[in-house]
Amino acid sequence: MELRLYDTLSREKRAFTPLDPTLVRMYVCGPTVYDFAHIGNARPVIVFDVLFRLLRHLYGAEHVKYVRNITDVDDKINDRAARDYPGLPLNEAIRKVTEQTERQFHDDVDALGCLRPTVEPRATEHIDEMRAIIEKLIAGGFAYVEQDHVLFSPGAMNAANGGLPRYGTLANRSLDEMIAGARVDVAPYKRDATDFVLWKPSKPGEPSWPSPGGISTQGRPGWHIECSAMSWKHLGERFDIHGGGIDLVFPHHENEVAQSCCAFHTPRMAETWMHNGFLQVEGEKMSKSLGNFVTIRELLATDKFGGRSWPGAVLRLTMLKTHYRSPIDWTAHALQESLDNIASWNDAVTPHGLSNDAGSYPPPDEVIAPLADDLNFSRAIAEMHQWAKAARAGDYLAAKKLAGAADFLGLQRSSWDQSLQEFMFKTAVDDEFRNKIDGMLEARAAARASKNWAESDRIRDELAAMGVVLKDGKDADGKPVTTWEIAR
Ligand code: AMP
Ligand code: ZN
Repeated sequence: MELRLYDTLSREKRAFTPLDPTLVRMYVCGPTVYDFAHIGNARPVIVFDVLFRLLRHLYGAEHVKYVRNITDVDDKINDRAARDYPGLPLNEAIRKVTEQTERQFHDDVDALGCLRPTVEPRATEHIDEMRAIIEKLIAGGFAYVEQDHVLFSPGAMNAANGGLPRYGTLANRSLDEMIAGARVDVAPYKRDATDFVLWKPSKPGEPSWPSPGGISTQGRPGWHIECSAMSWKHLGERFDIHGGGIDLVFPHHENEVAQSCCAFHTPRMAETWMHNGFLQVEGEKMSKSLGNFVTIRELLATDKFGGRSWPGAVLRLTMLKTHYRSPIDWTAHALQESLDNIASWNDAVTPHGLSNDAGSYPPPDEVIAPLADDLNFSRAIAEMHQWAKAARAGDYLAAKKLAGAADFLGLQRSSWDQSLQEFMFKTAVDDEFRNKIDGMLEARAAARASKNWAESDRIRDELAAMGVVLKDGKDADGKPVTTWEIAR
């Protein structure tokens, strides 16, 4: 079956042909480990997990290598370590933060039914490769040393003749546009506004390593270089697929291409660039200040969102209902619908007495075909609804197809029964949740009474992010009252 994938670089859906069919190679940018992953971070993890499963199906499990890195050097990690472990030396505190966050991340994405990648390299274990690439770039005239920093020069890349892509091609922006758009307060160590950091000095106490480029002080890598180094180490100079969220196209992926192609004198880094669309929550960009920021863990294990916790399979199915390149609006309503779907699928397959072991039934072609067409999840799920209907009417083959499809998509069929007992029959809104909402409504009424509209709006938004909608009205005596319900 032909696999077709949309490539961000050529901006078209193309037939996918691996460079080496005996080893299909995919790299996806992974998490920066300083805190619980949010539900937006789960999107690339789930999307590329389905692609990993599809590649394994098409080429054989042993012929696919999937690398997803762990970024364990970053200012946010340093800040978190200093805040959480003020008594410890910074390096020890950093190790605690990164190890703990990595464990949490694994627990969370395991619960979402994701397979572990073939390799999960950590940035700090690839400093030698980063230095080696930086030395190649300096030697080739693409990078320079200034005030203990090493900078990459997109201008030098575009001035070089032959065999290299032009800087800006992936993001579809010209260097001139970027120069025109650059801010005026350019760092003093940059020759050009568009130059970016490959290596920089470490502050005292921060993690540091011997520097490249003949710099005598210790330093640390910039962000972009780590992915060029880890993909090189584990997949080679050129590989098949590079993925991540759409926010990474510029500057991160553009800069990865620049580094890798200039270091290895190749016209491409990855043959296919794939980017998932962004996730927003209840119609708004997810942000801590809006109060609608929600972690995978909170969804799995607390009632913060929609008044209940949600099984991993429900979160995963919800993620798969939207095409991976489209934006997704994450709502309590959509989660409830997925829970209902799983309940109905469970009802459909249970009477047929199928084995619960994942992989007992092969994935039907009717599901592989839409997935092979640039991961058309919703067409695959539409097929599943048809089989559920037939299975409910007694069709055993349809039940097997539904089971095979669910297993292939990682929907954790063996957990359905148990999830349903735990989740379906739990009253949707428990007392603790009610009390919390009542408290917030009182605070909002007080804010309105003192005409503090900003605070009143903030509380309404916070409730909306919990899946609760408010209705302001008047009681029989004309006094204002507010009622609420769970968004449906
Ligand atoms: P970060 O840890 O922020 O570098 O993000 C890790 C991965 O999650 C990257 O592939 C991001 O593109 C992706 N990502 C972050 N936020 C969102 C979001 N709201 N929706 C979809 N993907 C996201
Ligand atoms: Zn990356």
